[in-house]
Amino acid sequence: MRRWEEAIRQVTPYVPGEQPGGENLIKLNTNENPYPPSPAVRSLLKEMDGGNLRKYPDPASAELIEALGERYGLGTDRIFVGVGSDDVLALCFLTFFNSGRPVLFPDITYSFYKVWAELFGVPYETPALDGEFCIRAADYVKENGGVIFPNPNAPTGLYLPLAQVEEIVKANQDSVVIVDEAYVDFAGDGEGMKAAEGTSAVRLLEKYDNLLVVQTFSKSRSLAGLRIGFAMGSSRLIRALNDVKYSFNSYTMNMPSQLLGAASVRDEAYFKETVARIKATRENAKARFRHLGFSFPDSQANFLFVSHPKVQAKMLFEALKRERIYVRYFDAPRLENYLRVTIGTDEEMERLFEFLEAYLKEG
Ligand code: PMP
Repeated sequence: MRRWEEAIRQVTPYVPGEQPGGENLIKLNTNENPYPPSPAVRSLLKEMDGGNLRKYPDPASAELIEALGERYGLGTDRIFVGVGSDDVLALCFLTFFNSGRPVLFPDITYSFYKVWAELFGVPYETPALDGEFCIRAADYVKENGGVIFPNPNAPTGLYLPLAQVEEIVKANQDSVVIVDEAYVDFAGDGEGMKAAEGTSAVRLLEKYDNLLVVQTFSKSRSLAGLRIGFAMGSSRLIRALNDVKYSFNSYTMNMPSQLLGAASVRDEAYFKETVARIKATRENAKARFRHLGFSFPDSQANFLFVSHPKVQAKMLFEALKRERIYVRYFDAPRLENYLRVTIGTDEEMERLFEFLEAYLKEG
């Protein structure tokens, strides 16, 4: 091995879901929104002629942060934006998890956490979810260098009630606790959870300055292609994130993303309508899957994590792919007999269920 090769950082990268090309496929594998972004976003995009692109974008993303501040009732010093929540979360690992004590996150969760921990040399421990795939708040009440978990969790879709989130934040006031709310806008209105409002930990921010809530435009706002994520927290935490960002790259978010993102945030009616549609489709999908003999945790996200007692998940994954229906399969312990299926439009779900009915009958 050459000397320079020895000096290369050793990492095992995160593997994102496939982005297959071509027509006539049903893409239920990366939790994208099946509906287009707000008409306000699309008409602004048409108006843009690109002349301004000769200039650097606003490094502070002020317009976008102002729109978010109004939407969430927070001062602009309490919001940080990044290039997708992946960018925000990676910066969080770099900024907050430096104590040398282990950071805690669930054994079954968003698999990028482990990759960032390895990349930045952050020690970590992974308390196991219980037999029903639930996070046990008590597992996070111990010495640590930070806590991070998604709510709803991925890939299970399970939502941890806010009282338990608060228990974790309250017990860890010497650490930064990050709640990754990539899917929180879809929580509520489910079978097991009627309350549509108040599912986000944003409301705990008034009480705890060690809490950081991270959200994304990729799912509920149909803007995965723009790459916008944001963090909300105390001004002290936001300042720390900004200091690290400006030590790394001042111009992270491009100008069109800032303006289009702001237009999306200001169209509350469209946001509510599409989120409600996806939740209704999800609840119907639960009934259909159950009818076909599948079992699954009671997801509050825009995906279901399903398993069938008579069919191997991997075989079904491959059969679906041959039909040009893409879902996500994780070849990992405890997950290997499940498929994660993103909620599509009613028509897409109908085609999925037609295929599953025929497939199960044959088998
Ligand atoms: N957190 C969780 C739990 C996710 O599932 C995802 C989507 N892969 C992300 C964060 C990142 O999403 P994005 O970078 O598109 O905002």
